[in-house]
Amino acid sequence: MSRVLIIGCGGVASVAIRKCCQVSEVFTDICIASRTVEKCDRLAQALAGKTKTRITTARVDADSVEEVKDLIRSYRPDLVMNIALPYQDLTIMDACLACGVNYMDTANYEPENTDDPAWRAVYEKRCRELGFSAYFDYSWQWAYREKFEKAGLTALLGCGFDPGVTQAYCAYAAKHEFDTIDTIDILDCNGGDHGYPFATNFNPEVNLREVSAPGSYWENGRWVEVPAMSIKREYNFAEVGKKDMYLLHHEEIESLAANFPGVRRIRFFMTFGQSYLTHMKCLEDVGMLSTTPVHFEGVDIVPIKFLKALLPDPATLGPRTVGKTNIGCIFTGKKDGKDKTFCIYNVCDHQACYREVESQAISYTTGVPAMCGALMLLTGAWNTPGVHTVEEFDPDPFLDALDRYGLPRSIDRNPVLVD
Ligand code: NDP
Repeated sequence: MSRVLIIGCGGVASVAIRKCCQVSEVFTDICIASRTVEKCDRLAQALAGKTKTRITTARVDADSVEEVKDLIRSYRPDLVMNIALPYQDLTIMDACLACGVNYMDTANYEPENTDDPAWRAVYEKRCRELGFSAYFDYSWQWAYREKFEKAGLTALLGCGFDPGVTQAYCAYAAKHEFDTIDTIDILDCNGGDHGYPFATNFNPEVNLREVSAPGSYWENGRWVEVPAMSIKREYNFAEVGKKDMYLLHHEEIESLAANFPGVRRIRFFMTFGQSYLTHMKCLEDVGMLSTTPVHFEGVDIVPIKFLKALLPDPATLGPRTVGKTNIGCIFTGKKDGKDKTFCIYNVCDHQACYREVESQAISYTTGVPAMCGALMLLTGAWNTPGVHTVEEFDPDPFLDALDRYGLPRSIDRNPVLVD
């Protein structure tokens, strides 16, 4: 019997909520709370009569610690699942600490306003010290470690697919397949086609900030940063085929480098079609990806927010997206003194996801791990107090849950390596 407060009701949260409702013996009560309560009400209505989970809804502005605290105090959840945006991570963590409740999210903190001078001072210092310039990093949430530990509470960070499942794949490889891991390549392939010339598969603002940032990877104990999209490879993905992929900075590299200090190199690649890249470059060149407000005809407009309003809502891409995703990790290392390679991945079909939960595979591959992570916390399978990323926990019960609830693993013992 568990009560869960889910904050956010967008593309990813909708999948997580529908999956929680498939496991109503654990998720007995859910409160869906978001800024636009009408979205929560519509989803609750769509699920009425189809699940034993008791669903309520609430309006909350998760930028306000006080509002989240009031909601937690009135609903009394066992866990808060933050599936809103990375901008709300710290306010929701503060509210969880104040109310003594466990926390989880799917993406690490970044500020909504990157012009904020207090944030910029820390950011610029971090860029100098660490050597990468993405707007997001773990330092803000790792700073809560002691507070969560002392309170006997668990915060699980980044429990989507990547970050999330990819780190469980790394923990699995370290536990079962290797004595030492030398390199990790995380490959995220979306072979789906939604028929639009340009659309993003999850929140456009967060997505475009991520992919337009300089790329970086971890090698020999330090970050190597390269211009955005400057490292390109072609790869033949199982069940998808050949795709161009580009090296990106990605948040799990940072936690994997900290938790697997013996690994020599960690890289992340994501596939992009030419149409996406051409549109993104053009939008960037004309200033539409900027987060700095422009004063226009008497109002302040943030270009990337205006762009978000023009682009298709990722939550509406489900019916029109066809094809498959293939996301996984390729490892090199040693077992019993011998060189070894190993790949573990998942293939997910956009249309199969739509038939099951009315969503495309990107939201599905994020929402299902969020539900499975919540399951680990609620059943006590993962219960170490503190602030943790997925690779710090036993991967076995989590990967078993993913196999069971829609994201089964595949294994390739002779993978083609990325040069
Ligand atoms: P959406 O934009 O579709 O949904 C965001 C939801 O959060 C909306 O319901 C929105 O409400 C709500 N929200 C935004 N601000 C607030 C606020 N201040 N208070 C309360 N609710 C708020 O995003 P996605 O579903 O695409 O993404 C959700 C999260 O998943 C993001 O953090 C994203 O980075 C992460 N993600 C993680 C992945 C992974 O593999 N780990 C992959 C893909 C996404 P409203 O309707 O009013 O706008």
